Amino acid sequence: MAGYAMRHYGISSWTLNPKVIVLHFTETDTWGPVRSTFAADAPNRGELPGTCAHFVVDQQGIIHELVPTTIMCRHAIGLNHVAIGIEIVQATHGHTSLWADQQILGRPAQIQAVLGLVRQLQARFGIATADVIGHATANSHRLFLDKVGWRNDHTDWQAPSVAEFRSRL
Ligand SMILES: [Zn+2]
Repeated sequence: MAGYAMRHYGISSWTLNPKVIVLHFTETDTWGPVRSTFAADAPNRGELPGTCAHFVVDQQGIIHELVPTTIMCRHAIGLNHVAIGIEIVQATHGHTSLWADQQILGRPAQIQAVLGLVRQLQARFGIATADVIGHATANSHRLFLDKVGWRNDHTDWQAPSVAEFRSRL
């Protein structure tokens, strides 16, 4: 991770001092395959470490902590040096990302768990609600930085969905 951080952020460290929280959703409806994907630590865009997230919240509202919040991991291009990543278990089933966001917002056990986790992280690290963002808008965040020109092309957590999420914090 320190090598990735040096190439993409000019930082020779894997230590994370969180300033941003990025919301994601998965491509499956259970958490097992998510863990398997991250545990495989396969190169992404030709680079290691593999993609990962700090937390995965399943549809029953169980929070799985995979990576300590003191360590960077690869979940959002341009923000991994400053951001905690939360994966929320929800597949699109051929629908839009907005549809998937809405499934999560309408599932009480899951969304309450995510809101509680985000509130805790905000309090612990002093993260503003405006810095709780969706992966879909990561490229336009003020702290976005990628020294080799990479950009996110993901559409999980659209701006209207994040606005709804923030209103419930
Ligand atoms: Zn994502």
